[in-house]
Order: sequence, then C-alpha cells, then structure tokens
Amino acid sequence: MPDFVAVPDAHARIHADVQQVGTETVALIDAHGRTTARPVTNPGPLPPFDNSAMDGYALRAADAPEVPAVLPLAFSVSIETPERRLPAGTCARITTGQTLPPGADAVIRVERTEEEGDHVRITHPVERGQNVRPAGENVKAGEEVVAAGRVLTPAAISLLASVGAADVVVRRTPQVAVLVTGDEIVPHTEVPPSGAIRDSNGPALQAMIRTAGGEARVVHARDDREHLRHVVETLREADALVVSGGMSVGRDDLVREVLTKMGATWAFYKVKQRPGKPFSFGVWDGVPVFGLPGNPVSSAVCFEVYVRPALARMLGRQQIHRPRHVATLTEALRINTGLHYFARGVATTSAEGCLNVRSTGAQGSGISRSMWAANCLIHIQEERAHPHAGERVEIEWLS
Ligand code: AMP
Ligand code: MG
Repeated sequence: MPDFVAVPDAHARIHADVQQVGTETVALIDAHGRTTARPVTNPGPLPPFDNSAMDGYALRAADAPEVPAVLPLAFSVSIETPERRLPAGTCARITTGQTLPPGADAVIRVERTEEEGDHVRITHPVERGQNVRPAGENVKAGEEVVAAGRVLTPAAISLLASVGAADVVVRRTPQVAVLVTGDEIVPHTEVPPSGAIRDSNGPALQAMIRTAGGEARVVHARDDREHLRHVVETLREADALVVSGGMSVGRDDLVREVLTKMGATWAFYKVKQRPGKPFSFGVWDGVPVFGLPGNPVSSAVCFEVYVRPALARMLGRQQIHRPRHVATLTEALRINTGLHYFARGVATTSAEGCLNVRSTGAQGSGISRSMWAANCLIHIQEERAHPHAGERVEIEWLS
C-alpha cells in the first residue's frame, strides 16, 4: 500500500471509493440547495401561448400599412377571452402577458396610439411579430430545463415551478458522522480547564458539511481504545465518517489502530502536502473514512481539498471542484517544503481587471484566523520553491 501519496493520487483513491447516495422525491418548495438526480423536461411550451410584451393594442400589422391609421376597437382582451378572434381590420386592448387573440400578429404599445372614442389611432409603424412573445420562446416543449446533477438555485426553482414540476427527484442528503477526538478537547460551550482547549473543529466541520450538501452528526471520543471502539461502533449507518484528530503518529493517536482492528482498510495515511500531511483515507464497513489532522487549519484545508469534492461526488453533482483561476502573486511566498503547499490567500481584482493574490500573512498551522481571512487557497506545486512576486499561481476559490 502506498502510504505516502501525492495530491492527485489522493484524489484518485478517494474518487475510486466513494459511491453516490440514493434518491428521494421532495416538494419543489423544499428543494433549494438539493441536487437533482434526474433531468427535468418541459411537457409543454413555455410560455404556453403567444402573448403580449407590452400594454397596448393587438392588431394585424397588415391593417396599418401606413400611419397614422385608425382602427375600430373590437374588445379588451381578458382572462375570459383567450379564444376570442380578432376581426379583420380591428384592434383589441391588451396588457403585458395577456394572450394574443387569434388573428392578431403584432402589438402596438399604448404610447404610440391615441384612443378616440371606440377607435384607436396608430401613430407609429407596426411590424409583424412586434411586441409578441411567441409560445415556447422561453423553453420549448420536450426541452430539458434542468439536467441531473445540478444544485437547485432560486432561478432553477423558478423554472421548475413554471413548467409545473411540483416535486423533484433529488439525491438523499449524505449523513456524515464527525468523530472529534482528543482528551484535551472540551465542547465549545464549556470553559476549558487548564491545559484543555475548546472544540472548534466539530462546529466548523458541521458547518462545512452543511454547505457541501450533507448533514453532520458530531460525536466526541476520548483518546482511549475501548471508548473509541465503543463510539465508532455507533456510526455504521453513516454515509461517510470524518475523524478530527488522533490520526497521526503520536502516542494518543489511536483512531487508525482502532479502526483497523474493526476492519477498516486504508488507501493512504499521509499526503505530500502542507498543511494536512497526516491526512488519511480508508473504508470501514463500506463507509468512506476521512482522517483529518486535529489542527484546525489542516482540518479545514483537508476538508476543502478532499471531503467537499467527495460529498459532491456522493451527490452525483456535475461540478465536483470549486472554480480555479490563475492569479498573479503580489508578494513572494517563503515556501520551500518540497510538498504541495496550500497557502491561504486573498484574491482581488485590480483596477485594470487583473486577478491578483497575496497570502493572508502568517501561515502557521495553528493560525486558524488565516482560514477566516482567506477567500481562496493558493496551490504551490511540490517542485516550486520560494515563488516570487509577479509569478502566476493557481488559486481555488473557497466560496
Ligand atoms: P491531533 O491531530 O489529534 O494530534 O491534534 C493536533 C492538535 O490540533 C491538537 O494538539 C490540538 O491543539 C488541535 N486540535 C485537535 N482537535 C481539535 C479540535 N477538535 N478543535 C480545535 N483544535 C483541535
Ligand atoms: Mg489528538
């Protein structure tokens, strides 16, 4: 087993082992943020009928070959008159969105007319098709409106409502168990005794899992073999297990040993990267296990780089990774690790429209503020030492 892998190999191994979750049907009004499991097609054209784009008068353009022209007002279009035919040589009052009466082929807007008793004077030229929204101009009948593997945004929900999709088939929300380890860790709601610290990874991972489309259940365990085994035993139903801490080689790092005894197999347990070198991945009883280093910066970086895309795959999403761009470094970075380095960066657009990036400052793995200050990760490949100002680097957006 290659225990110490490069970043692309780590991605490939995880990709090979994560499975899509099942599907369920939800009401459209509850579907925001969910991922479609099937394409949705439009049964009929949208809009369903030719209609007016303006307030004004519907007419045949050929009835006003020269202007001004005066046409008798036949009727006012209303919700009760959708089938009413426009007699030749006349016009009908119409408002935006109303059905174009059969026979009419144009709408003249009200500002270009004068109503004179039961006649209308047309003061501007009219062309066939003018101010008419043809049936199906938005979406044709039988056309796909939303593909499978798409995250439902308010705009998608608007389209789906228009085509009458009252329910949508979406991926089930992956249930992620978060195992927070460490005898020195107390719940963030408690005052830590001397030598202890508050749990920040549990709440952070819970929030990150939610923004990635999953649902988290956070459990705490002591650095004790028997207690760990007991707690892990309750997590078999999860779709994924995320472990915070206890995964590296310290005396208290017992999680790998315990999980291995319980039948877990490991794809790797170190990655050629910083931060997050002790990141490990395996499968236990069919459940993918992501072993994040306890250090809050490493934990957050490994989540963004590996767990978020894995959840996107479980959800069958078309877009797995967050967008990446090439940006210009505005300062030198003192990095010479020989490892793939994920610097926390602040990317900005200059007045000339160039994308620039700088680091958030001190990059120590204990400085969790660097993650909060960042809007991107700067990828520095293994072989690049001391990138200098002006160099082009790849950035990955964090939101
Ligand atoms: P570990 O990976 O278990 O060796 O943890 C490394 C360091 O990360 C610990 O010494 C703590 O300072 C910190 N740490 C571990 N777990 C947490 C947590 N849940 N919240 C905040 N910091 C943590
Ligand atoms: Mg620990």
